[in-house]
Amino acid sequence: MNNLLNNLSISVEKQDPAKISKASFPLRYGKYSEIKTSEYEFRFNLNGEIKFIRGLNVNWPHPAEQLKRTDGNDWVYYSIGDNSSENGINSWLGEYYLPCVPYPSNSIWEVNYLANSNIMNAFAAWPQLYANLYGASTGGMNPKVKGLISLILKNDDRVLYERSQKLNAIIGGRVSVLPPDTRHIDYEIIPLMIADGCLYHCKFCCVKSAQQFKARTMTDILEQIRQLKSFYDRNLENYNALFLGNHDALEAGHELICLAASEAYKTFGILDKRKFTPLLFLFGSVNSLLNSENRLFEQLNHLPFYTYINIGFESIDEPTLKFIGKPVDRSKVLEAFQKMLDVNAAFANIEITGNFLMGETLLPKHNQSLAELLRNTSVPSTGKGAIYLSPLKDSPKKRELLPQFYDIKNQSQIPVYVYLIQRL
Ligand code: SF4
Repeated sequence: MNNLLNNLSISVEKQDPAKISKASFPLRYGKYSEIKTSEYEFRFNLNGEIKFIRGLNVNWPHPAEQLKRTDGNDWVYYSIGDNSSENGINSWLGEYYLPCVPYPSNSIWEVNYLANSNIMNAFAAWPQLYANLYGASTGGMNPKVKGLISLILKNDDRVLYERSQKLNAIIGGRVSVLPPDTRHIDYEIIPLMIADGCLYHCKFCCVKSAQQFKARTMTDILEQIRQLKSFYDRNLENYNALFLGNHDALEAGHELICLAASEAYKTFGILDKRKFTPLLFLFGSVNSLLNSENRLFEQLNHLPFYTYINIGFESIDEPTLKFIGKPVDRSKVLEAFQKMLDVNAAFANIEITGNFLMGETLLPKHNQSLAELLRNTSVPSTGKGAIYLSPLKDSPKKRELLPQFYDIKNQSQIPVYVYLIQRL
């Protein structure tokens, strides 16, 4: 190797556990390539696209922290926070890492990583590595290493941006929010749109689209699946989860949901090399959950997936529902909440979780009624179900909301976590 590559340690292919485990250090999964300098570790997916950067020098904030590039081409900083006590990140997020996103979101704990020069230096190290690979002489090089370098060089920043745009074009728009349950697989999902728009267009919502709800045709869905397979290419094998979008896929009905999931399963070969159950995620609403017939759950229960359905309840306080502009009434929310518990108890492979709002500007009765509901809800010991509290976007973006959160969590019979809004 010539001088430019002398100080690099290159691993063409490494295999971490395919299953993402909840561990404090390090967050590692799947098959990837790795290049290390004395100061940084760069990880690439099987298509040669940069995926993770982690600092190895003494100035890096913490050895467990890293930058991750999403399929939407956002660089997200994974922070372990500054509180390792029982009130640390894990107690309110259910994970050991707080993903710090580079766009406005609803985090109750803001880490301004863009102001940290040690983290910013990692961004500068990536184009420097790219330039070194570009300028390196490949004569006499191990063919596998040569192949890896050529793959990486095909994926410069412009290409990576264009690929994210292509993904949006395939599915017909950017996924503006992922279900909270996708945290279980570090938000690594393949998106497949089976419907657009939503039923309510709530006033408070910061992720809605202007469209009325409309299901996609099966022809459209099959075409997405075909293009997605080609888009993800070799890296497809690193995915074990499917997100059926968009904001209320449950309203699309049992036929479309089950057909889309089955076709994607077959085409993507999601299970082929896995020793664990693939996951299916979708959002639902109060109405779509109440309208869902038993046969939908029976069919979902027999799919090869373990399915998470996340429902936006928001509040059981009537004035709060009016205040946030959610056009459903308290009795419907309570009915849907009970249906969530019933489905969780009846179907082993389906887990419905629910979202409620949290925020200083909400009426006091909101928190009181929610705490009372969660305190008095008895859940069978299936270990399923979770409640997510989603901070309103205009709430103070710091920890002032955590006492409210813990107050509700500590009274609840169901696990409660904070919902961090993340796009794909
Ligand atoms: S909260 Fe859900 S139903 Fe309401 S506008 Fe947003 S996406 Fe639509």
